[in-house]
Amino acid sequence: MGKLEDIVSLCKRRGFVFQGSEVYGGMAGTWDFGPLGVVLKKKIMDEWWRFFVEERDDMYGVDAAILMNPRTWVASGHTATFADPLVECKECKSRFRADKIADGITESVTTEEFLKLGVKCPVCGKENWGPIRKFNMMFATHVGAVLPEDVAGDTEVAEKSIAYLRPETAQGIFTNYKNIVDTIYPTLPFGIAQQGKAFRNEISPRDFILRDRECSQMEIEYFVAPETWEENFEKLRVMQHEFLEDVMGLPADSIHEYEVPADDRAHYSKRTIDYMFDYPNGEEELMGLAYRTDFDLMNIQRESGKSMEYRDKMTGETFVPHVIEPSIGVERLFLAVLSSAYTEDEVNGDKRVVLKLPENLAPYRYCVSPLLKNKPELVVKAREVYELLRKKYVNVTWDDSGNIGKRYRKQDEIGTPKCVVVDFDSLSDDTVTVRERDTTGQARIKIVEL
Ligand SMILES: [Zn+2]
Repeated sequence: MGKLEDIVSLCKRRGFVFQGSEVYGGMAGTWDFGPLGVVLKKKIMDEWWRFFVEERDDMYGVDAAILMNPRTWVASGHTATFADPLVECKECKSRFRADKIADGITESVTTEEFLKLGVKCPVCGKENWGPIRKFNMMFATHVGAVLPEDVAGDTEVAEKSIAYLRPETAQGIFTNYKNIVDTIYPTLPFGIAQQGKAFRNEISPRDFILRDRECSQMEIEYFVAPETWEENFEKLRVMQHEFLEDVMGLPADSIHEYEVPADDRAHYSKRTIDYMFDYPNGEEELMGLAYRTDFDLMNIQRESGKSMEYRDKMTGETFVPHVIEPSIGVERLFLAVLSSAYTEDEVNGDKRVVLKLPENLAPYRYCVSPLLKNKPELVVKAREVYELLRKKYVNVTWDDSGNIGKRYRKQDEIGTPKCVVVDFDSLSDDTVTVRERDTTGQARIKIVEL
């Protein structure tokens, strides 16, 4: 595993991740995925969808709108409680998340508790704090024909037009629960899955793509009969490991389950596990698994006045299902995959950077090149091989730049598992040299056997 700055540098150098709006000096907490990053990100998301939705009979997908009726966030509690403790330095006016500049306190820290800690301002070094205020992290916007003067004043138009960019994808699932029950008639237990953007106005975005203001989430709400929650929780707990270790290729000993104690859990949750990952900068949350009881469906039932009950097909019994939620951030998983794949070694005395990505995630599976690019017969033959492999595997790249050693270095850095080189022997015997990324070993293989 590399240092974070090495990974950030590789991401920029090879076109995985760029700073958002970089040409204008950037925009804090936003990141843009370049040509290789978008492929890796999409593969991660597609593998998740295949594993949790397509390969299962008990999962259904939705793709809900980012803008939702604001009553959603009243019912879910986000309007009242989706807030971080904001503290302002009275000397230099810098603002911080209180629990991020002091050790041993949580988001629920009070002003008195904070002042007792003797924290110095990370910017000016003084100790002169204002009170801790709750800062709501939802991004607000206005929907419809709203003029700047409507918004500036405390007008009814401003009030009525307000909407939020969703702070989580989960509520787009809960609000569609009834639609799915009434159209698909699923049998409990069943899950509804969604992937998509979510927005959080973080006070201090940091750690590269780990804490950003715009992110992608992959969430499942798994609906169960209340008395079966424990067995289903266990089933989902094991599935997360299979996905993270077998499909994403993360080392099992870098993933740590942290059983969240009752005091730190959301009040409605009876059990929560945080899956922590050993990132380059230390252990950080990778994903969560939470038993949310009937909290969300009951909130919607109360706020909307519509029944969220499920009728058991065998017994005719009706009840509001309970929910278990596995939730993962795509960027967090992206960084976990990259940092486990990042390796530095030595080949013939030269330092080499290599991304040992699993084959199912590598942006390109093969790189095809002619040994020499100024020999037309080699180029023609190499093009044939390239077209053949592209038909078969889709994600195949062509590279005839520089010398062969430089091409290998470049493909190692972007994680291409195999480089195929067409040389003069290829013209007579239809074989090519296949060079392996991880071992740098080479073998002569028949083109038809690729
Ligand atoms: Zn200060």
